[in-house]
Amino acid sequence: MLKNIILMGPPGAGKGTLAKQLKESLNLVHISTGDMFRDAIKAQTELGKLAASYINAGHLVPDDVTIGLVKERLSQKDCEGGFLLDGFPRTLPQAEALQEIAKEISRPIEVVINLDCDNAELVRRISGRRVCKNCGAPYHIDSMKPKVEGVCDLCGGPLYQRKDDNEEALKVRLEHYVSETKPLLDYYDKLSLLKSFNSLTGKEILFDEVSSYLKK
Ligand code: AMP
Repeated sequence: MLKNIILMGPPGAGKGTLAKQLKESLNLVHISTGDMFRDAIKAQTELGKLAASYINAGHLVPDDVTIGLVKERLSQKDCEGGFLLDGFPRTLPQAEALQEIAKEISRPIEVVINLDCDNAELVRRISGRRVCKNCGAPYHIDSMKPKVEGVCDLCGGPLYQRKDDNEEALKVRLEHYVSETKPLLDYYDKLSLLKSFNSLTGKEILFDEVSSYLKK
């Protein structure tokens, strides 16, 4: 089975949802830099204050901060059995740093799963997205409704709309994706690590396709 996985794709392509499904079925450590920053914001740490100023406007948190965070997390023992990077790397310096870190800890990246999705669908998904404040489970006001409005099915926590899931911040996030993150597809293709999937098929089909591929 392929372990040490990167999940890539524009905001709203379904990385977080797929990561949660894969984490449970394949027993991998899920490392989401977005979740790590949101936890720091909730805990009102110095990192949280710094991250919030970038995230709320849709900008990327500076590379040195993000790389340091991931390096520390990947060096922990629980990553030895395999990890799923969700939302990292997002820039070329991050991708290059990751290659170095992976070498240092002897856990090379084995595959980069890219999720393709068209822009209109990204906007629909992001503008209707709601997230559980406690456990981070994702919902959508039309296509992934909770059983009780505003309440998480899994833990009973309250659902909220992320501050960066508004039209203005989304525009900036998509611009960063196109100019800084999308070029990484070429970078990983040249390393023969890239495998793309169409995320418009729906989350269950996508999960089946990706998990069968990883188990090959
Ligand atoms: P996500 O939950 O992956 O959509 O991330 C939410 C926000 O966190 C992003 O829009 C960025 O502001 C920030 N962020 C997450 N991962 C990174 C990263 N690898 N590099 C820089 N900023 C990041």
